[in-house]
Amino acid sequence: MLFKDIIGQDEIKARLIQSVRERRISHAQFFLGREGTGTLPTALAFAQYIMCENKSSGDSCGICSSCIKHSKCIHPDLHFTFPFKYEKELGRLCQDYLPQWRTMLLKNPYFGLSDWFDHIKSENKQINITADECYEIVRKLNLKSYEAEFKIFLIWMPEYLGKEGNSLLKSLEEPPPNTLFLLVGESDEKVLNTILSRTQVLRFHTLTDEELAGALISRNAVSESEAKRIARISDGSYSVALAEINHSSELLEELMLEWFRIVLKPDIRALNKWIDQFVDLGRERQKLYIKQTLQFIRETLIAKNLGETHVRVREQDINLLRWLSANFKADDAEELSFILDDLHYYIERNANPRIQMMYVSLTLHRLLTNNNIFLEQRMA
Ligand SMILES: [Zn+2]
Repeated sequence: MLFKDIIGQDEIKARLIQSVRERRISHAQFFLGREGTGTLPTALAFAQYIMCENKSSGDSCGICSSCIKHSKCIHPDLHFTFPFKYEKELGRLCQDYLPQWRTMLLKNPYFGLSDWFDHIKSENKQINITADECYEIVRKLNLKSYEAEFKIFLIWMPEYLGKEGNSLLKSLEEPPPNTLFLLVGESDEKVLNTILSRTQVLRFHTLTDEELAGALISRNAVSESEAKRIARISDGSYSVALAEINHSSELLEELMLEWFRIVLKPDIRALNKWIDQFVDLGRERQKLYIKQTLQFIRETLIAKNLGETHVRVREQDINLLRWLSANFKADDAEELSFILDDLHYYIERNANPRIQMMYVSLTLHRLLTNNNIFLEQRMA
């Protein structure tokens, strides 16, 4: 990974490059940022830059033997640790799961936890960074590096280090010479304090709409207007934007219209069928659906407060928007936004989408009609 292939994050890139040039590389750093902001690709680019045999003042050369190995994620001095689902026949250590990990990195390093879970077909709760893996890191620390001057341990999602992570504390604080730890995660609150306090934290900001739209146009050949639309609903995350490209948004919009129709009526049988469809979308598209609906609710609020000329929706959706803005009180629209935000949060963490969506639908019905007839029908 080259620095030039990272979207945005110019300040962080400059800081990292400078630290290498001045040979003041901090030995334990935590690349902290939301999924899709570029934490993992930046850590990869940093590792490659440190080991590049012919680096320039701004990037790796991309063609030396070290860079070639990095481009295939097979450099022997870059060690990966990540949460995985233990399978007896595969083994207890991350190195046993490297083929899956490399496939993922090479396909698109802007992936998040849910993509990884999907890739290894696992549920959140079965995933872990094992104690064995921690001991393995300690063991490798004592080995000499194979080829490069530095040995780098990249730990993705240190949130999954339980108390067994404490076996790493001494190494994090005082690693052997020429050893670096790069931790890459999303939430400092979920990382053991003992670990966090031993790292230097680099905070990645969410990407701006301009950065995202630019990336979509140059990397994914998306038209300018489509790129702007996707950037708006992607919440500063390139992974979300990619998911949006990969799946046509038309279907999701149709689904949204149908949802409002069914929930308003209400028709419990139709809702159950609708939820089947929602579940079949899979997690990434469920998240997109929620984002898109959230965006629509926001547009409704804008229409209500500032007038229709300020909204950005498709021609064919304008009737629904008018209807909603006439029937939703501002407080209700806000409540629905909160509930959808929560729904997004739970889906991301592998909650049961059927139960969650049923709850949200019932709430929406109550907001739209101010009664609980749906619930009575369900009980009957
Ligand atoms: Zn190189």
